[in-house]
Amino acid sequence: MKGQARKKRSWAEPYKIKMVEPVKMTTREERERAIREAFYNTFLLRSRDVYIDLLTDSGTSAMSDRQWAGMMLGDEAYAGSENFYHLEETIRNYYGYKYIVPTHQGRGAEHIISQILINKGDYIPGNMYFTTTKLHQELAGGTFIDVIIPEAHDPDLEYPFKGNVDLQKLEDIIKQHGAGKIPYISIATAVNMAGGQPISLSNLKELRQLTDKYGIIIIHDMTRVAENAYFIKDREPGYQDKSIAEIVREICDLTDGATMSAKKDALVNIGGFLAVNDENLYEKAMNMVVIYEGLHTYGGMAGRDMEALARGIPESVSEDHIRARVGQVLYLGQKLIDLDIPVVKPIGGHGVFLNASQFLPHLSQDLFPAQSLAAEIYLDSGVRSMERGVVSAGRDPETGKNLNPKLELVRLTIPRRVYTQAHMDVVAESIEEVFLDRKNIRGLSMLYEPKYLRFFQAKFERI
Ligand SMILES: *Cc1c(COP(=O)(O)O)cnc(C)c1O
Repeated sequence: MKGQARKKRSWAEPYKIKMVEPVKMTTREERERAIREAFYNTFLLRSRDVYIDLLTDSGTSAMSDRQWAGMMLGDEAYAGSENFYHLEETIRNYYGYKYIVPTHQGRGAEHIISQILINKGDYIPGNMYFTTTKLHQELAGGTFIDVIIPEAHDPDLEYPFKGNVDLQKLEDIIKQHGAGKIPYISIATAVNMAGGQPISLSNLKELRQLTDKYGIIIIHDMTRVAENAYFIKDREPGYQDKSIAEIVREICDLTDGATMSAKKDALVNIGGFLAVNDENLYEKAMNMVVIYEGLHTYGGMAGRDMEALARGIPESVSEDHIRARVGQVLYLGQKLIDLDIPVVKPIGGHGVFLNASQFLPHLSQDLFPAQSLAAEIYLDSGVRSMERGVVSAGRDPETGKNLNPKLELVRLTIPRRVYTQAHMDVVAESIEEVFLDRKNIRGLSMLYEPKYLRFFQAKFERI
């Protein structure tokens, strides 16, 4: 084989480990008690009882030594912190948006933009809902309408850009309600609820043309824009020789503003921002931020956290980083596919989604199959995952009925730069074990249901 280059060489982590955080391995008995006390909701487990934590990739990334060094340079002035200006300049450079309002995390930005733009009775089309995004739209008096392509709802379909917008459906909605009732289109990159599936640049360009025709703006949920850019580079014709940073910029340039949960792609433990290009909108956001977040030069973040974010953004779009980050997710996904375990295909950018409906075909949706499966995986190995199915979808605000989403999933979300390939092997083996014993898994019934975002705090018992 000498001299014959392989098509795709292996990736390895583009860093070495300088500090370690021990994790506890528990016994089955200890886990039985822990999950019972957590009422079979992995969100209610104590982290000390978790071995490998794949609950979320939100705020769980490992920061670099450069970011930690930046924490020491925190300028904690109430007004005009140096770190804010560094952050503002970085966001302008990498994402191109003109005006930046820092917020404590993504939902702070969603709250502000929803309150500013949405009037009662408005409709907000988007490429699949996200829990907090949709709730803020509803609290502002709007109604979310899903305009993602139908392919996104088919977990077995290998379609490269399942995050794309169904442009015909969107145009029909605009014609039906009138552009005046649609304050903006809400576009997520690497669509979380579809399994981390990307939107293509060609779709986004067509969307831009369509929205321009009707004078509607696009607000970009850019929480996972770097992961989306990775898939564009990998799959979309014409982008193989572009850098991730260039692709990220091209995506942002096609939109009018953005909300960002910096706890994901941007490699920090806390933080977010709202970014807009329109000065008038910026002024309105400045009025809101002081009420709900803090002064416009910190918006709920400490100076040191803004510095860590300003340093995290360039790292997040570096080629080596994103290749290894998504590479690790694909590694776990491929292992599960090889074991014939039902997962959402293709594997997305931030996690592997188990198809709980196929995993547990004997459980109907009112027995909460994904919630049950997440509890069983924890019981087997101490691996913590989370439900993305009927519990997460919640109820229809009008009828009060369960929304019964088509996708009933368990999300294994991989924190960035935290776990090794060996951890991924342990996770895959545990899921295989649960899969072999799946016939014995019974469902759950809900004991307590919170009013909003019920998946976080709902309580269950075994049937
Ligand atoms: C996490 C997330 C949010 C909300 O951000 P928080 O920082 O958790 O408030 C919004 N949109 C998407 C796609 C997310 O993944």
